[in-house]
Amino acid sequence: MKDVTKNPEVQHMRAEIARIGRFLFDRQLTDAAGGNISARVDDVVCMSPSYSGSKRQWQLEPDDVLVVDFDRNILAGDGKISRETHVHFKLHETFGEYGTAVIHAHARNLLVFATAARSMPPVLEATRKFGVTPCIEYAPAHSPKLADNIAETMYGREHRISKHAAGVIAPWHGLFLMGKDLDAAFDAVERFDTNAYCIIMGQMLLANHSIEQPREMMETVIPNYTED
Ligand SMILES: [Zn+2]
Repeated sequence: MKDVTKNPEVQHMRAEIARIGRFLFDRQLTDAAGGNISARVDDVVCMSPSYSGSKRQWQLEPDDVLVVDFDRNILAGDGKISRETHVHFKLHETFGEYGTAVIHAHARNLLVFATAARSMPPVLEATRKFGVTPCIEYAPAHSPKLADNIAETMYGREHRISKHAAGVIAPWHGLFLMGKDLDAAFDAVERFDTNAYCIIMGQMLLANHSIEQPREMMETVIPNYTED
């Protein structure tokens, strides 16, 4: 069997996955409870190991990142294969010609949409290109059915994957997306989460017009205030 760790592209991708995992965790784009990252290099997939959040707090070293073939044999890396491996392989197998990276994330603001089992429309120029991010039919975490539901909802959005990324919201669970590469996938997780934040906060702002009253009061109470 060939030694995949001799392939500099594979080794680079393992380091990138470790780095992106830290970013996701630091920026509350995923949490200790879950998330996983994978990226294909030719005919192997580099993948964050199981329990990257709960046991390693997303402080992965490059050698922790698994290298797995399409028969799901671990060729390198220290750990067990992710429990969401069905989703990762389903997307790599089905949409591999459009994108190379898959991220599953428990992004804080996006989780509000998952909690409400709602699809998410774009509300920013930075997210318009994604269109509506659909909420899929429920299937249990780690199940092959979840992988099927995600793939079904991805059909017809291949052009979005090849340009940037396309995602779905799994109800009561989180975000799954595929990007044209790992940078695009990470970028999309952050854009989706910011979009979710803007919807949530925008609804609070628009529902509360009482800011006018204290503002008028301030104008009356401190009419002549100057800096000096
Ligand atoms: Zn999860």
